[in-house]
Amino acid sequence: MSIDINRFFQPVSERLMRYARINTQSQNFTGRWPTTERQRDLAKVLYEELQQLGVDETHYDEQHCVVYGRLRSNLVHPCRPLGLIAHLDTAPDASGENCRPWLLRNYDGGDITLNAELGIVMKAADYPNLKNYLGQDLILTDGTTLLGGDDKASIAAIMTLLEYYRDNPDQPHGDICVAFTPDEEVGGLAQDLDFTRFGSDTAYTLDGDHLGHYMDQTFNASMAIIDIKGVSVHTGTAKGIMVNAVDIASQFLSMLPERERPQYTSGTEGFYHIVSCQASCEQARIVLIIRDFDKDNFLKREAYVRSCAEKLAQQYGQQFISCQITEQYANLKEVIDTVPFMIEHLKKAISDCGITPVCEPFRGGTDGSSLSYRGLPCPNLSAGYENAHGRFEYVPVQSMMKNVEILIRLAEIYSQDSGI
Ligand SMILES: [Zn+2]
Repeated sequence: MSIDINRFFQPVSERLMRYARINTQSQNFTGRWPTTERQRDLAKVLYEELQQLGVDETHYDEQHCVVYGRLRSNLVHPCRPLGLIAHLDTAPDASGENCRPWLLRNYDGGDITLNAELGIVMKAADYPNLKNYLGQDLILTDGTTLLGGDDKASIAAIMTLLEYYRDNPDQPHGDICVAFTPDEEVGGLAQDLDFTRFGSDTAYTLDGDHLGHYMDQTFNASMAIIDIKGVSVHTGTAKGIMVNAVDIASQFLSMLPERERPQYTSGTEGFYHIVSCQASCEQARIVLIIRDFDKDNFLKREAYVRSCAEKLAQQYGQQFISCQITEQYANLKEVIDTVPFMIEHLKKAISDCGITPVCEPFRGGTDGSSLSYRGLPCPNLSAGYENAHGRFEYVPVQSMMKNVEILIRLAEIYSQDSGI
């Protein structure tokens, strides 16, 4: 079945702009979930919209700020349900207050004036990804806020998919289960998603930049905290008594391989990253994160950090050094490998829409990393936004339109998969 995707232009762009105007910025360390009340403003809008779209089962878990919708299958035969998840919040990195999205038609490849009054210009030379969208239509900001296409471009695509089925009731589909969750940008890990209510035993998170990219693996991740005690006495009488925690901390840091740091690594290479080091003569604390795609290498990295701490403990005394490593999330590949149909179906849907699927190891974690280990396998499909988390974020409307087509194709493939 071929679809004229131009029909999606107006609904996806209108939706993204409408959602973008609602500030849903999340915040670190507020000590409550959702981390900000304002995420509820969008949740409520989406809940009402699901109802207007005629989605059979809708639910708004107000306490946890999670919105659910389930469009029931219109088939007589059983088939796998299709699960889709996107996040409500925008990153704390840039303001989302008073976002003023606008549409630039037929981009000509040049610099884009975002805000004439304030002289804010997005230079084509500074953002080489712009040249990929020559002749396309871009939704941009006024240069003072982020756009929040991360992840509202995904929400817009999902809603437009549901609208498509409302307007084309004869198109076959199985159960389509959607959920919108808060706080992805601040490590919320979709912790309050109720799997029973969601209704599908697998799902795709929709997030990430380039169109047609998908992700079936993330880092394994842990955090190490190295606490160092010193002995502080007057410098004049320190000989043989003083133990300077700053010296021990710097000794520890020098043991970490110099090139295995975020700024020197890419692709599937792992690293150690020193998040912070606070030190005085009396005490020091080093916070370190450890990342690797490969489980064995990851465990070796953890063991290496422990051995460095142990070496110093032997040199200075056990009482002076402690090392604590906490797991943060795990590579979801192990889980995704148990449901190979998910990636097969996704790749087929993308390529059936004329795009070459690109598998990209995700150098971070996603809600999917956590959901996968809690029993809901979740690979990720890109949303098509660019320059996320900043004031120069934009979304090509054609990417969102194409994503709607990919989702329709994916739903069709799922409707033909009996799960046997
Ligand atoms: Zn995101």
